[in-house]
Amino acid sequence: MKVLVINCGSSSLKYQVLDMTNESLQAKGLVERIGMEGSVITHEKIGNDDKFVLRTPMEDHKAAIALVLDAITDDVHGVVKSMDEIGAVGHRVVHAGEKYAESVLIDDDVIEVLEDCIDLAPLHNPPNLLGIAACKELMPDTPMVAVFDTAFHQTMPPESYIYALPYEYYQKYGIRRYGFHGTSHSYVSKRAAQILGKDIKDLKIIVCHLGNGASISAVKDGKCIDTSMGLTPLEGLIMGTRTGDIDPSVVEFVMKKENSTVADVTNLLNKKSGVYGLSNNLSSDFRDLEDAYLKGDEGAKRAVDAFTYRVAKYIGSYTAAMGGVDVICFTAGVGENSGFTRGLICERLSFLGATVDAEANKVRGEEKTISAADSKVLLMVVPTNEELAIARDTYELCK
Ligand code: ADP
Repeated sequence: MKVLVINCGSSSLKYQVLDMTNESLQAKGLVERIGMEGSVITHEKIGNDDKFVLRTPMEDHKAAIALVLDAITDDVHGVVKSMDEIGAVGHRVVHAGEKYAESVLIDDDVIEVLEDCIDLAPLHNPPNLLGIAACKELMPDTPMVAVFDTAFHQTMPPESYIYALPYEYYQKYGIRRYGFHGTSHSYVSKRAAQILGKDIKDLKIIVCHLGNGASISAVKDGKCIDTSMGLTPLEGLIMGTRTGDIDPSVVEFVMKKENSTVADVTNLLNKKSGVYGLSNNLSSDFRDLEDAYLKGDEGAKRAVDAFTYRVAKYIGSYTAAMGGVDVICFTAGVGENSGFTRGLICERLSFLGATVDAEANKVRGEEKTISAADSKVLLMVVPTNEELAIARDTYELCK
């Protein structure tokens, strides 16, 4: 069976086609600037050197998905002869509130739940729903599965997900920590156990998903018991442009000083802060920050030091939460590629008896154990693969 995986954003859409008989990637692509001037689809058939790029107006998500279907059935660049060969579609959906702890087959009830969750993810759930609606119209007979960013974290106990607000705010509005990047945390923790040839139930694992958005999770007995993102993806680690944890009183303080609105400050916290803001707007990209750091740039040093300190601090607290740690995994853009940043984080972990093998830590984008032979904790690079995880869940529910 071939599965189409769709990850729909407000103006962009990523997709992949996977053949689940051997879990091989057949094609992948990106649609950008949906509903805007200059819309473009970039499609790649795996094994073909040439990418297929088409610039054409796309007024909405339905038009974008119609072009995706054209691309994957195209005589030259396509990977299926007709859409009948696509057995199911897997959609990445950001927020399922407390409703789903697992992936589900999409029906009208599921769509209703996701609509109810729009309040919790106003930027993400609406485009996810648009993608689902468009596929339903264009492929009415193909089953669809929703795979949620929040699902893996639903096993967190109340003591770790509850905010110390009056309890009625949780009861009335569902204000609590939900966590995100769940598909990645789930995939990486399972994969680490598999690589080590151990039962995940016997391991205490910390997964550091360090990309533009960054989060960390504590996985004990195969279950998430804590994660750093909260009601929204703003909480926790310092990120590319997001603050992560701050004192909420900063909001009112900045509003008064700058005579600004809540929306202005929310934008500041999400888009202008993080390592970008800390480096005096030098960059949110760790490649630039690493170069500048090594040239002695103070802003880059301030940003990277604060970032690595925060990651190490969370590792310490999750070690306490789990009563120990066996494996620490690094994943996503920074975690997979930046030996420099991993090295700085691990330098802060000597209290755990964790030591890095400098040579192994040069690895980029490959599965590898990077701890020294005498390290008391295993340190691993495990590249994430959210699309494969989505395709697997989709296949399991539709085969
Ligand atoms: P997201 O999915 O949250 O947008 P990614 O996981 O794709 O982010 O990570 C993107 C980030 O990864 C980039 O902004 C950059 O900081 C970092 N990155 C990618 N490659 C490298 C590299 N070779 N060295 C350091 N950082 C890298």
